[in-house]
Amino acid sequence: MIGSISLENIRKEYTSSKFSLHIDYLKFSSNNIHIIVGPNGSGKSTLLKLVALMDRPQEGRIIFDERDILRTNNEWQKLRRKIGFLTQNPYLFNTDVSGNIALGLKIRGYSKTKIVSKVTRILKMLKISHLACRNIKQLSGGERQKVALAQILVLEPEVLLLDEPTAGIDIGSISTIENTIKNIQKNLHPIIIMTTHSLNQAYRISPHITSIADGKIIDFLHENVFFGQLQERSGGLKCMEVAEKVEIMLVTERSGDACIAIDPESIILSVRIPKTSARNCFRGEITKIESVGPNVRLLIDTGVPIYSVITKQSFEELGINIGSSVFVSFKVNSVKVI
Ligand code: ADP
Ligand code: MG
Repeated sequence: MIGSISLENIRKEYTSSKFSLHIDYLKFSSNNIHIIVGPNGSGKSTLLKLVALMDRPQEGRIIFDERDILRTNNEWQKLRRKIGFLTQNPYLFNTDVSGNIALGLKIRGYSKTKIVSKVTRILKMLKISHLACRNIKQLSGGERQKVALAQILVLEPEVLLLDEPTAGIDIGSISTIENTIKNIQKNLHPIIIMTTHSLNQAYRISPHITSIADGKIIDFLHENVFFGQLQERSGGLKCMEVAEKVEIMLVTERSGDACIAIDPESIILSVRIPKTSARNCFRGEITKIESVGPNVRLLIDTGVPIYSVITKQSFEELGINIGSSVFVSFKVNSVKVI
């Protein structure tokens, strides 16, 4: 079994776009589910393609159990067979669901009875037994995604790479997929790396979260990272519209596309409209509260999720709870451009 994969001093640039991914060090092991969280365009798929050995970086090392895989060409084919990669646009064959799931097993020469038992088990695990004989053309988006996942899981990969596995699917299917991922980790112990743009989802699945933005790991926070276009505003300010009617004001020389982050500790909460000079002020509802050491971490839905970390004392003084309506405010210079 592959026990660990590490990336060292990785630089991956695309010649046709200005994007580059830089990773100094990142290690994935088989005991955990590793989540890569970041906004669209931050480099999540690029990173997974490197680990899947589908693409090569210009610089750096990719180490599978001590072996630098970029310098041992002859092992690629063998290793690729141990990697299951659920891409963002999985390909399914024009046949029924069982046929799609069985295909990989057939190629690997399993007996008919073995194939039937493995396919049945995986259909049950993903709660899609009733779809076994359905043609893939007659499936919903969520159902197709489950079939694509089943196709990979049935091969029991040692490395499971999941690129935004629940993007665009219904809420019921999201929890089935999330629970399946957790069960796979418990029972088969593969190395699991999953990407998501939802920090809430990341927290639901695993505490091992790496946050990336604009091709770089950001270690100072996972929260409040937004990607978008900077627009000029009066008074030398810039602004980024992160959701409808949620415009974040900031000071920067940069223009065009950018990634911004707001430290949760610099976000002030108040119950009434705050009498502050802070240019950013949004109304929201508290959707999550958790205790973190001497502090309390709150998730506020303002149209976009915003995290705030305040002391336990402030929390008690505010007298707020889940569902409370609050004002979130922060200064323009609390907004960092990454
Ligand atoms: P994410 O998965 O986080 O949304 P990606 O890794 O897909 O981000 O892409 C990161 C950036 O690299 C994006 O700006 C994207 O347009 C660019 N990009 C992705 N793939 C290619 C490619 N094959 N050639 C050129 N640019 C690419
Ligand atoms: Mg992607």
